[in-house]
Amino acid sequence: MLPQDLHIHTTYSANDNCVVPEQTVALIAAVKHARIVGVSDHFESLLNGGFERYCAEVSGYGLKVGVEVDGHTWVQEASEHEVDYYVMHCRDSGADYRSVELLLATGKPVIIAHPNVLGTDLDRIPAQCLIEINNRYVWRSNWREYYTPFVDRFNFVISSDAHQPNWLSQTVARYAAAELGVAEHLVFAG
Ligand SMILES: [Zn+2]
Ligand SMILES: [Zn+2]
Repeated sequence: MLPQDLHIHTTYSANDNCVVPEQTVALIAAVKHARIVGVSDHFESLLNGGFERYCAEVSGYGLKVGVEVDGHTWVQEASEHEVDYYVMHCRDSGADYRSVELLLATGKPVIIAHPNVLGTDLDRIPAQCLIEINNRYVWRSNWREYYTPFVDRFNFVISSDAHQPNWLSQTVARYAAAELGVAEHLVFAG
């Protein structure tokens, strides 16, 4: 069993056409591929009344409740919603870097999502943020060159970014983390 997986999508990410109808919270909970499992659906998909139902269902299965926040335009609203942690898309823009501070001010863990494919400049990310090594995307860049300068500066989390049941795996991300000499940071005890 994996130690932790905090980046998983379910059918609540209705705007994401990579998610399959079988990818329900119930299925994620039943598979239970990691000791600590967190669901992090797209925040913008959870508005229009879906947020409370989402929190109740995810926490009802004993899973951590996260949201994936797509840049600065959603940060203010997301910071006003009670979750266990945030996963954030931080593109290479001043507005996105500044909005990271707003998420950190909530006191909740902030995971910078697949920075290697968003062009995130990790020199501009506060050291309290957790940096993701993401199984879906880590191989889609020169990850060795991208992450190596920062291995001593940040804590890292390893994630599947699963949108489909067979993506509940971290094989490539764990290979990259081992090559980088990165020890995974466990965000939640248990
Ligand atoms: Zn993402
Ligand atoms: Zn995602």
